[in-house]
Amino acid sequence: MKLSNYFLPVLKESPSEAEIVSHKLMLRSGMISQSSSGIYSWLPLGLKVLKKIENIVRDEQNKAGVNEILMPTIQPADLWKESGRYEDYGKEMLRINDRQEREMLYGPTNEEQITDIFRRNVKSYKELPMLLYHIQWKFRDELRPRFGVMRGREFLMKDAYSFDIDAASSEDTYNRFFICYLKTFARLGLKAIPMAADTGPIGGDLSHEFIIISNTGESDIYFDNNILNEGNKISDISYDDDLNPIVEKFKSYYSASDEKHDKAKFDEIVHKEKQMNSKGIEVGHIFHFGTKYSNSMKANVLDSDGKEKTVHMGSYGIGISRLVGAIIESSHDESGIIWPDAVSPFTLGVINLKPKDDEASSIANKVYNQIDDKSEVLFDDKNDNAGVKFSRMDLIGLPHQIIIGSKAVSDGLVEYKNRKSGETEFINLDKLGKFLEEMNV
Ligand code: ATP
Ligand code: MG
Repeated sequence: MKLSNYFLPVLKESPSEAEIVSHKLMLRSGMISQSSSGIYSWLPLGLKVLKKIENIVRDEQNKAGVNEILMPTIQPADLWKESGRYEDYGKEMLRINDRQEREMLYGPTNEEQITDIFRRNVKSYKELPMLLYHIQWKFRDELRPRFGVMRGREFLMKDAYSFDIDAASSEDTYNRFFICYLKTFARLGLKAIPMAADTGPIGGDLSHEFIIISNTGESDIYFDNNILNEGNKISDISYDDDLNPIVEKFKSYYSASDEKHDKAKFDEIVHKEKQMNSKGIEVGHIFHFGTKYSNSMKANVLDSDGKEKTVHMGSYGIGISRLVGAIIESSHDESGIIWPDAVSPFTLGVINLKPKDDEASSIANKVYNQIDDKSEVLFDDKNDNAGVKFSRMDLIGLPHQIIIGSKAVSDGLVEYKNRKSGETEFINLDKLGKFLEEMNV
């Protein structure tokens, strides 16, 4: 992509309405544009990151054997009356009447909708366990939308749902998602800590939040520092392994968000110097709630004896749009964002420092054209001065940069810069192809 064709409305000044660094940087780097309170448009740079995160989340769901579907944003109120949550959900739910005066709502979550799909389509224990997910916009009329996309009113969530024949099998499924979440967050370059949590309005008896440490987080968390160095190599775990001991190992470390925190227990089982208390951002939440919805909504299957059995369920959310902000919170410096490679909007930035010089421009064009996948390169071919170019490239956080200046013309050398370490090195133009290949671009 050539910057001269790209819609990248960067701002010089920090917008005054933004309280935290990720919100400031997302506005400054032209990733999002506010529509109304807690509701945003995603501009090209922001959308690219959102899609990269979405695709990693999707890939990990697929690897865990979860089926992708797509449910609507608008749901009939009748389903929520069946489960009893229509009144309970209160003012956070956006309620709508259609032209026939039928009560509808913009979905804040999809337990009812999925249970309805399940009961219409699945009749036998032979089809269980059944795991389904979708990635869809949600609406919650939050009391205090703030921090940009971190607490929006409209936000993108991956929500998965599981159906099992009994509690034991349902807990195995819960463990599968537990591991899937650890794999997903590791791939996103994040260290997410699983924490015992309250189940809130979703209900149920077993629940974990996945929280990343950040001083701008809204959750208070207490944990044993050893959990950060847990030895299991997450990416190596196979779903064919016995997951129970691995999950139990994680659960054996003390970790809890404030509602579940038990100070006496914390003091008893964790050495003082390993006791950590900080703020954190919730990026995922998993629930095991047994028959709460299947009971009220009559989601039954026939078991092997031909008897009707109520299925056991769980639900599993990841805040995809919140993750965009959360990743910036954990990866930035005073110059701007530093994207982890896996979610960077472009793998590589190419800067032509001398756009008015024909020779330099011809070299820069050649470098750009030797890269096959143009969607992974942002080529700054604009007529701005060097200072503007450097600070813009650093602000938008591309992890790898190639800078083409006067040395390219005089000595056939271009400069590589690593955004995170700030280290630079000169590379001979003849060797650039190989260098880029090693970097996977
Ligand atoms: P919170 O306590 O932050 O309000 P929640 O417990 O209400 O979260 P869930 O219902 O578990 O959230 O939703 C699953 C995930 O969706 C959360 O872990 C979070 O990452 C994301 N999420 C929830 N509410 C919002 C929001 N208002 N804006 C952006 N993401 C959100
Ligand atoms: Mg909430």
